[in-house]
Amino acid sequence: MAVLDTLGRPIGSLRLSVTDRCNLRCHYCMPEDEYLWLPREDLLTFEEIITVSDIFGELGVDRIRLTGGEPLLRRNLPVLIEGLAAKPWLRDLAMTTNGVLLAEAAADLKRVGLHRLTVSLDTLQPDRFQRLARINALSDVLEGIDASRRAGFTGLKLDTVVTRGDNDDELIDLIEFARSVDAEVRFIEYMDVGGATSWKKDAVVTRKDMLARIADHYGPVTSISEPESSAPAAQFRLPDGATFGIISSTSQPFCRTCDRSRLTADGVLLLCLYAQHGIDLRRPMRAGASRETLTNLIRAGWEGRADRGAEERLIVGDRGTYIPLKKLKKEPHLEMHTRGG
Ligand code: SAM
Ligand code: SF4
Ligand code: SF4
Repeated sequence: MAVLDTLGRPIGSLRLSVTDRCNLRCHYCMPEDEYLWLPREDLLTFEEIITVSDIFGELGVDRIRLTGGEPLLRRNLPVLIEGLAAKPWLRDLAMTTNGVLLAEAAADLKRVGLHRLTVSLDTLQPDRFQRLARINALSDVLEGIDASRRAGFTGLKLDTVVTRGDNDDELIDLIEFARSVDAEVRFIEYMDVGGATSWKKDAVVTRKDMLARIADHYGPVTSISEPESSAPAAQFRLPDGATFGIISSTSQPFCRTCDRSRLTADGVLLLCLYAQHGIDLRRPMRAGASRETLTNLIRAGWEGRADRGAEERLIVGDRGTYIPLKKLKKEPHLEMHTRGG
């Protein structure tokens, strides 16, 4: 029997953060100079992750996305992927990565059974990459994309967070680049989630703006999204047949169909990207809780879920930073790089 939350939404997918560490410092996610990291001993072991994942599977999850921080920084990640890929209940196993370490990892990821890859790519200009992510690594990311294709990954997605004055002049270049590597680009609106301490309404380029600019260049754009889909990206087609997506979390949120649960690398279950509190699964698990107890914890959490964070933010009139820096500095779980995006 499907487990439903208070708004009738089933639990369908799990975003598994495997580390809070990152090798980039994207301006919309990790703009600060210093961070408080999760204690290493708190990170769930692969065995613990598989145990919890199996429970999510029993409750209705059939899609897992590995994320972070940067998931490729987690040592021996292919071992975890191999364990997850063997699960009969898992229909889709994907990973979101910044691509910096992908060139070396791609063949292994394919060999152990990862189904799909999403690479975050905000610009095709090396100096801009350096300015926006504080590390000069664009060529590594491009090599990673190339290596993933050679390794046999298909259906590659490229995720671009669009911010005004930074990369909103690259929409067409990114669509063309995606086409050249058989990928689909998805433009993400800048969100005011924890970690986005420089967020300002003016920096958001809305879906409407993006569509207008794209149509201006290519001609009429057609919406091809399935109605009532739980996928975050709305899909569009250009007159020449190429497709792209827009994730409009800020201007047109899609909480109504959200089936996503999130698990931080130290085992805290979050019911929404905006949730300020989570359900700690690590402590009970390490204290010897039975599988039944853990299952009940997760089920009760989901059944009590009323979260629709992005929709609630939309009605805040004079909207500024969501979590003040002082609070973020004390509680790493509120950070975007801890909750996995
Ligand atoms: N490090 C990996 C990466 O960047 O692909 C995975 C983790 S990252 C937190 C996951 C996604 O969150 C990325 O695609 C990133 O662009 C997105 N993200 C982070 N901060 C964001 C923000 N303030 N607004 C919108 N998307 C954001
Ligand atoms: Fe950028 Fe992802 Fe790292 Fe955040 S976690 S700084 S989005 S690469
Ligand atoms: Fe789901 Fe929360 Fe995002 Fe809305 S804001 S789509 S409920 S994770």
